[in-house]
Amino acid sequence: MDTSNHTPLSWEEITNNLDGVKKQGIRQFIYQYKKHKDRRNDPLYWGDEIEYMIVKIDDEEKTTKLCLKAKDVLETLNIRNIGNRTPIWTPEFGAYMVESIPERPYSDLLYSISEVELSMKERRKELTSVLEEDEIPFTLPSYPRLGVGCFAVPSTERNPNNVTSKPWFSPDDVIYKGRQRTTSIHQNIKDRKGGKIEILIPVYQDIKTKLAFPAVIKTKWKMEQSNDNSIFMEGLVFGAGCCGLQTTFQMDNLDEARFLYDQLVNICPIMLALSAASPVHRGYLSDIDTRWPVLSQSFDDRTDEEKGQKPLKNDRFRIQKSRWSSVETYICPEHSQYNNTDIVYDKDSYEELKNEGLDEALSKHIAYLFIRDPLFLCSETLDQDEILDIQHLENINSTNWQTLRLKLPICNTSTGWRVEFRPMEIQLSDFENAAYAVFVFLVTRIVIAYRLNFVIPISKVDENMSAASKRDAVMEEKFYFRRNSFSDKSITEIKITKPGQLKTKDGNDFCQMTIDEIINGNVEFPGLIPLIKTYLESKCEDTDEETNHLTNSYLKLISDRASGAEPTTANFIRNFVTTHPYYQQDSIVSDIINYELLKACAKKSNGGIK
Ligand code: ADP
Ligand code: MG
Ligand code: MG
Repeated sequence: MDTSNHTPLSWEEITNNLDGVKKQGIRQFIYQYKKHKDRRNDPLYWGDEIEYMIVKIDDEEKTTKLCLKAKDVLETLNIRNIGNRTPIWTPEFGAYMVESIPERPYSDLLYSISEVELSMKERRKELTSVLEEDEIPFTLPSYPRLGVGCFAVPSTERNPNNVTSKPWFSPDDVIYKGRQRTTSIHQNIKDRKGGKIEILIPVYQDIKTKLAFPAVIKTKWKMEQSNDNSIFMEGLVFGAGCCGLQTTFQMDNLDEARFLYDQLVNICPIMLALSAASPVHRGYLSDIDTRWPVLSQSFDDRTDEEKGQKPLKNDRFRIQKSRWSSVETYICPEHSQYNNTDIVYDKDSYEELKNEGLDEALSKHIAYLFIRDPLFLCSETLDQDEILDIQHLENINSTNWQTLRLKLPICNTSTGWRVEFRPMEIQLSDFENAAYAVFVFLVTRIVIAYRLNFVIPISKVDENMSAASKRDAVMEEKFYFRRNSFSDKSITEIKITKPGQLKTKDGNDFCQMTIDEIINGNVEFPGLIPLIKTYLESKCEDTDEETNHLTNSYLKLISDRASGAEPTTANFIRNFVTTHPYYQQDSIVSDIINYELLKACAKKSNGGIK
């Protein structure tokens, strides 16, 4: 909805309207649910979302800078594209970022696989064509020197000794100003939590690494001693300004969408680890490889009461997780026994949903989403219809930034129940991004075709999420995974080379596996890629040789990343920095190292260099 002429409410005004807005949002869900719960036969459409950061490369000075020109770039792209069938370009949080989606979703036919990379290449080409010669669209999750010195054009630099000028590292100029929603969410997260957005990430301890925490801030802001070995970032942009790769899948009906959602819950940490591509934050090599923990802290709008740091007085709930986190619950009734954490949910909403005929699992999911407050409201749309409108519902659903999102059908369109897969880090090249997107698409196909079951206790999924962001998680960590993923039906139908065990000695239906075992198989689990290959063989009449060849090259990349034959992007970046002749073994990624790193990244991203 276009809210550009609307009047956003302040946080105080939002708080005065919370009850009414949430009640309307729940009523809107109930109406939509009843209208669409029996909707069937929607085609399998799917699509990707790619986020880019625009970087200026100065080969004479040997520096790179973020270009804060997204607004102009989007205007140019959108004027040029009027009336044409072209990719869709939208703003993102950073003033240096843009997002693109394909001109229309891909269809379920296997040969649609070949459209993905072509579309991504087309989009990169189109974006490049409206930039200057020395500007490059990077698909890199985190800009290594965001917040350090003069990192942007136009310059946003401030006096490093002036600690009273806040935010300290992330001046507001870095935030995209052309959309009220973005600026309101930014302000309201700060106002809601009653303080600054502070992010702490462990620094990578090399032999000469000194205090990563700026001494001047430490003294003036009286920060804790325990933070000394942390990279300190202040501001939403450190998380929200990262680029991700998301995919959305439309399912035949609600039951299938719920089933897929639950099966993808534990695929999220695996794909986060496999796509890891952000080891550098605020100019330091960190001890994590993904953007996820930064995002989680930056979008954490919980108050001290909600976090359990003060007794509950003004707030209603103790909340375990940030708004940006792994999903809280499985949403199919048959998986409720695996929801083994204390789910906090809005009891009134829950009762109302149950009374309207929703089952317990879906009611809890929705009532969990509604423990969060809306972060953007306008006076013009405050009072809404529960039948004609859905904005209060969408407002809550779209600001629960979990690893997966169940998206509702859109009335009078061919858009049905969809599941959005949200954890992946963006990769440097279109080939890699296509490989990851297609791989997740094929996982959804085998899940549905063989009724695979990846469900494990949700507390173990949370542990997997923590493991996924660690340094070199693919090689160093093990992940809880289900031993027997086959329903009785599927196991008789499919031909597998390494059959999974049906019963296990210790009675646990999960164990720890490496990512290599999960992707490529072991004696207990055939592996996602062998299962995909079996599926593709059974569908060979739907594809042609060229598509098969392309699919195999995508699967090979994923397989090699999982086995370690091919390093993750995070590993490539980490290695580039630590073996650079100018690297001082102090974890610092200097301007010149950053410049050469970005040149190397541009080389890896096909079409990146003009
Ligand atoms: P959001 O930012 O809310 O996640 P976007 O509009 O940016 O959503 O992206 C939507 C994604 O869903 C795109 O990849 C698009 O191609 C895809 N998509 C659009 N319509 C459908 C549909 N009916 N079924 C599945 N995917 C769709
Ligand atoms: Mg989007
Ligand atoms: Mg999205």
